Amino acid sequence: MTVTSEIGTVIAALRRDVADLHAQLTKYQLVIWTAGNVSARVPGHDLMVIKPSGVDYDALTPDHIVLCDLHGNLVDGDLAPSSDTAAHAYVYRHMPEVGGVVHTHSTYATAWAARGEPIPCVLTMVADEFGGDIPIGPFALIGDDSIGRGIVETLRDSRSPAVLMRNHGPFTVGRDARAAVKAAVMVEDVARTVHIGRQLGSLDRIDDADITALFDRYQHVYGQKPADPQEGEYR
Ligand SMILES: [Zn+2]
Repeated sequence: MTVTSEIGTVIAALRRDVADLHAQLTKYQLVIWTAGNVSARVPGHDLMVIKPSGVDYDALTPDHIVLCDLHGNLVDGDLAPSSDTAAHAYVYRHMPEVGGVVHTHSTYATAWAARGEPIPCVLTMVADEFGGDIPIGPFALIGDDSIGRGIVETLRDSRSPAVLMRNHGPFTVGRDARAAVKAAVMVEDVARTVHIGRQLGSLDRIDDADITALFDRYQHVYGQKPADPQEGEYR
């Protein structure tokens, strides 16, 4: 097998994975119309696959998923890449540990972004998944590197795989696209629950030492289980 065909096999598999993962965004009601996108890095190459712009989720197939370089230029595909491609590409260029990026306008997480308020770490599942408060990123206009830069600068100072970009919505990262989708599902879940909790009264943040203990246990102890290490246990 030549190197070229090996890359082709990897890219074909990633196109299938990323097309399938978009169905999770609709399953968990994180997106409406054509908003939202999932991408995956092509491991070992300066390439990524991402949703095309403006294709209905119901019609999305692996053939629609486009291949881009890490500056957002189209390398292979019949459709224009997502309008958020530059942001995804910036994240891959500056966070080599990241293998997947997701963006949605899911309702509750986006409501916190509209408030410009971090989601406080008041539940063990926030500590487990996000390692602390879920941070707010800067306001940024679409069209250049400013969204990507805001994501990277915010996540570098945090253990969270999710950032709520101010006046915009959540972007999530993971070691692969599936992990980034999981973070997108979880951030909406905790955004909703913490919002409801706050309607009942004031909330107490978990102590920093306990947050660290919860995060380390969840990320490292569960993460070393041989069976399906991508699945954390959900308490
Ligand atoms: Zn957006």
